[in-house]
Amino acid sequence: MEKAEIINWLKETESSKQETLWREADIVRKNSVGDAVHLRGLIEASNICSRRCRYCGINADQGSNIPRYRMTYDEMIDCAQLAMDYNYGSIVVQAGEDPGLTTELIERFIKWVKDHTSLAITLSLGERDEDEFVRWHNAGADRYLLRFETSNQRLYENIHPPLKCQKHVNRFDILKQLKDIGYETGSGVMVGIPGQSHEILANDILSFKELGLHMIGIGPYIPHPQTSLGKGENLICISNKEQVPNSQEMTCTVLALTRINCPETNLPSTTALSTLSNEGREQGLKCGGNVIMPNLTPLKYRKLYEIYPAKSCIKEDAQEFHNQIKKRIESIGRTVGKGRGDSVKFLSCH
Ligand code: SAH
Repeated sequence: MEKAEIINWLKETESSKQETLWREADIVRKNSVGDAVHLRGLIEASNICSRRCRYCGINADQGSNIPRYRMTYDEMIDCAQLAMDYNYGSIVVQAGEDPGLTTELIERFIKWVKDHTSLAITLSLGERDEDEFVRWHNAGADRYLLRFETSNQRLYENIHPPLKCQKHVNRFDILKQLKDIGYETGSGVMVGIPGQSHEILANDILSFKELGLHMIGIGPYIPHPQTSLGKGENLICISNKEQVPNSQEMTCTVLALTRINCPETNLPSTTALSTLSNEGREQGLKCGGNVIMPNLTPLKYRKLYEIYPAKSCIKEDAQEFHNQIKKRIESIGRTVGKGRGDSVKFLSCH
């Protein structure tokens, strides 16, 4: 699609027209990646973070307002074991940018998983050094997720301040690095961050395509009242007309446009979307999504990983969610994916 067409769709408010687009994306999804919904067990390994991302509820500015935790090696292994018990094809280890999750600790964990299970491993540990990416890939890590959050430099600098003594690192450069190392590479954005216009969001979607991503994570921005962005401080001012809403409908439209423009990518129906409505997961699957990430983090830690308020999975017991998810997937005519659920796009080039 051309940029102008994407912008027109983003500005479309008539629900019958939006639904036409979502249906088209559903057909593209069926033809390019099929009916399988891949399940990835999410492990939120640490809420310790050295970053001050202005949207995120566990950023360093929160200090000790929130109790901080880092899972032990054994706790992480228990989560991987649970993923095996539930027959999930892969796990995603996500965390704040925590130097205490050392290169060696993560490497040891990856090796254990590779030696004892058939799981694919995705890492989402923020901006780390290239030699760490290489070591983890050599140890067996398959995939890396790093959302670029926005393709607009000014907006990015507003919401994602650099570390002290650090120049702005370009996440696009890191994504290219990850691809070159051989990772299945994922990125994504939030929908409706303050200062995000329809044009910026259209550029984000075009960037997904240009980067040739294997996975794309898209969810609505949910203001966290303890963050400076959530409090409305230092916003980039754009008019109400230009500002993209952080609604369920808009998120579905962005998912649909992403599926149409990147047919073979793996596209999760995100937890953030399901936070907006009980039917959010199904909704995301119906407008292009083909992945769900059930949360395997022990409940005692889960409420402490509150990147945004009222995350839909905070009280969701892993076993209970697991019992329901198959039924929920089948109720909309889809099947639970078997195996690792590698990206079709990645497999076709390797
Ligand atoms: N530290 C890692 C993982 C961050 S959490 C990293 O920076 O890559 C994963 C994603 O959650 C983020 O990339 C961001 O897009 C999303 N997120 C963070 N705060 C959010 C909020 N308030 N609302 C919605 N999504 C949010």
